[in-house]
Formats: sequence, structure tokens, C-alpha cells
Amino acid sequence: MGHQASAVIALHPRLKALQRSLAAAPLTKINDPELADRQLELWIKRDDLLHPIISGNKWRKLKYILNHALYAGADCIVSMGGAYSNHLHALAFSGKALGLKTIGFIRGERPPQLNPTLNDLLDWGMELRFVSRSHYRQLRGYQGHDSLPELQPGQYWLPEGGATYLALQGVAELVDEIEIDFDILAVACGTGTTLAGLLASPLAQHAIGVAAMKGGDFLINDVEQLLEMQRMTSHADRRILVDYHFGGFAKTTPVLLAFMQDFQRRHGIELEPIYTGKLLFALYDLIRRDYFPAGQRIVAIHTGGLQGKRN
Ligand SMILES: *Cc1c(COP(=O)(O)O)cnc(C)c1O
Repeated sequence: MGHQASAVIALHPRLKALQRSLAAAPLTKINDPELADRQLELWIKRDDLLHPIISGNKWRKLKYILNHALYAGADCIVSMGGAYSNHLHALAFSGKALGLKTIGFIRGERPPQLNPTLNDLLDWGMELRFVSRSHYRQLRGYQGHDSLPELQPGQYWLPEGGATYLALQGVAELVDEIEIDFDILAVACGTGTTLAGLLASPLAQHAIGVAAMKGGDFLINDVEQLLEMQRMTSHADRRILVDYHFGGFAKTTPVLLAFMQDFQRRHGIELEPIYTGKLLFALYDLIRRDYFPAGQRIVAIHTGGLQGKRN
């Protein structure tokens, strides 16, 4: 494996305290005759249970980014997201817990009535800056933590979705927590950073990403780039499925919603339609098409995101 021995990075004391407030993310086995008939096992890594507010993969991604920012002496994190952003939601809460100021660029005009996500951001002290779609697109071009032109001293720039190579190590840690042998990891993709983090673990052999948006073909390159920046060459087999977007990002169909309802009722695990619903739908579709050879054990990552359902 060309996996770079991941240096042990010391956690800043303020992050250690936040880390202590996290719960375990257990594995849940999905008991389903459909799986048993095919001699397949499906397990869910419950990152949705990590923390009541900082959900799932957003904590995994933020951990070493915030660590870097704290050691760099930053006192303010500036980032961007949509009006329902799980990323900004996790960032605003973490920032408050760590004593860091936060600023969020929000795509689109300020709505007359703020939604629950935006209200939370304000409650946790995030300064909201509503920007036009063209301004927002322009912000996507700034990648480095000091690359945003208007950055003030002490401010640290974090690209959309926390998509930086510093995010990978925190995600890779979740793979280390999986205490069973497994064949395949599966995760929903927005920026692909979480998938890249899974691939960065030497324990990953095969990983499947399910694109949440239309036209997700760019993801494979973005994932490679993130791994390269972290100087990690992962030999894990990877595949990104781009046909389970149900019309596009944040789009749903009655078929998807019915699937989610059925899954939730049968297994008692809540999903949301933007990411995890599409992931589980895709996995069941693949299972029914006999995509997985008998005997395989699949671990799907529940990346959380349930806060977005309130909107
Ligand atoms: C943000 C998010 C994702 C996508 O993560 P990326 O690292 O951007 O690919 C997946 N699931 C949920 C619930 C999310 O909030």
C-alpha cells in the first residue's frame, strides 16, 4: 500500500474537550430476508448518532481542519453553504463550542423568514452574509485556507462542504472504528470529500460513492485530487454511481420517499432524502440486480444530515 503512514496529529486542547462530548457511532446490522437470501450482509455505521447536533461526516471532516485552524492561531472560520447546509450547521455549532467566531456566506437572497437551519446558525453566533449566485460561484474558486481575497488577519477560509485534504484523516478514523471485517464501504457524495477520506484508510478495499446531484462525473477527479494533496495513494477500488440523484441535488420523487419510509419503518433508522435516502436506495437497487457477489459484507456510512429535514 502506498498509504503514507499517517502522522499522529496532536489534538488542540479545545478540540479534545469537544471530542469528549461525542458519543460512539455503533454498527447496526440490517436484518432483512432479502439480504439473507443472497447471502449478503448490510451494516450501517451510525455516524448519525455521533452528536445530537454536529452530525455525522461533518464532524469527521471538521476535526483536523479546525485543529489546523486553532494551531494556526485563527480566531474566525469563514465558510460557505446553501440555506440548509449541514456543513455550516456543524461549523457554527463547533465554532461556538471552541470559542471561534464563524462567518457563513449563504447562497441566494436573505429569505424574509429564516428557516430552522439559518436560525440555528444565528443562535450560535455565525455572521450570515447572503450572496448572489454568481458571487457564490466565484467563492467556490478559493481553495486554500488563506486564499479568499477579503480575508482579515486571524480569519481562516474553509471551502464549501469542508472540501479540503485536511478533512480526510478525520474521516479515515471512522473506518478504523469498524470492528468487523468488511468487503465494501458505501457513502453518499456531495463534494466527494468523505469518500476520499474512506479511501485514505488503509483498511478500505472497495468503496462505492453515490452522487447526490446530477452530473456527478466530476467527483472521481475531485476525489483523486484530494487524495493527492494528502499524498495518499489509495489502491482501494472505487466507483461513483451517478444515476441515483432522483432529478438533482435536494430533489426527491415519490419512489425515493416511499423507499425511505419503508426502510425507516422496518429498521428503525431515520434517513433524509438528500444523501442517505439515495445511498440506501442505490444499495438496495444494486443488491436486487445481484451486483454484489454472495458472501459480501457491505458497510454503509450513515452520514447524518437529519437536521435538514426540519426545513
Ligand atoms: C455533506 C453530506 C454528505 C456529503 O459529504 P461530502 O464529503 O461532501 O461528499 C453526505 N451525507 C450527508 C448527510 C451530508 O450532510
